Amino acid sequence: MSFHATVLTLFPEMFPGPLGISLAGRALEQGIWSLEARDIRASSTDRHRTVDDHPAGGGAGMVLKPDVLAAAIDAAAHEGPRLLMSPRGEPLTQPLVRELAGGPGCLIVCGRFEGVDERVIEKRNLREVSIGDYVLSGGEPAALVLLDAIVRLLPGVMGKQASGEEESFEGGLLEHPHYTKPNNWEGVEIPGILLSGDHKAIAKWKQAQREALTRARRPDLWQVHESGKI
Ligand code: SAH
Repeated sequence: MSFHATVLTLFPEMFPGPLGISLAGRALEQGIWSLEARDIRASSTDRHRTVDDHPAGGGAGMVLKPDVLAAAIDAAAHEGPRLLMSPRGEPLTQPLVRELAGGPGCLIVCGRFEGVDERVIEKRNLREVSIGDYVLSGGEPAALVLLDAIVRLLPGVMGKQASGEEESFEGGLLEHPHYTKPNNWEGVEIPGILLSGDHKAIAKWKQAQREALTRARRPDLWQVHESGKI
């Protein structure tokens, strides 16, 4: 079973983009996942191929029309949940990525302009997902971020399956620092414990580093981690 992503966008030429290269690109070639980018504009019905209109009640910018977007969604055979990339959506987190990667696929709607007509979100049951507290000019880079995070978790994509499990956010902590040869670089040594061969001590060191980093840099994550211990 492979993961199938359907993306609805006004700019299908943005896909697969960076996901056609390296890890994700290889997995795409191998058929571990598949991607269909569909042009929302193909669902417009008038002579001018209109996809947007002025916001009701006034205000700046344009809004994606509900009839056109709904027609695009209805025409797209797709697997799994329907997502809308949106700055007011639920934050994209590693547990959400894991949940999606465990399913058959997803449909991703990329907004443009000021966003999409609220009624499509309701009527087509779109789950709004945000990649962070900042505003992009379109949902396409957000969709690429989401798919990149999903694809690397699909079975067979990462060389060593285990490397997905020791990383940042798995277990609610940031990752410990990494080192590689040379042992002494610009006068700085690799921490001796990592060269000791004592696997138990190394695991303990990594865990302590993860805790210290998380506490210092992400008090929000640390608080959740601590409250989970009770
Ligand atoms: N007027 C909107 C922003 C529209 S930005 C507002 O203030 O909320 C245009 C499109 O870019 C959005 O429809 C959405 O699809 C995408 N987008 C912008 N920022 C995003 C973010 N942080 N996460 C996910 N998608 C985003």
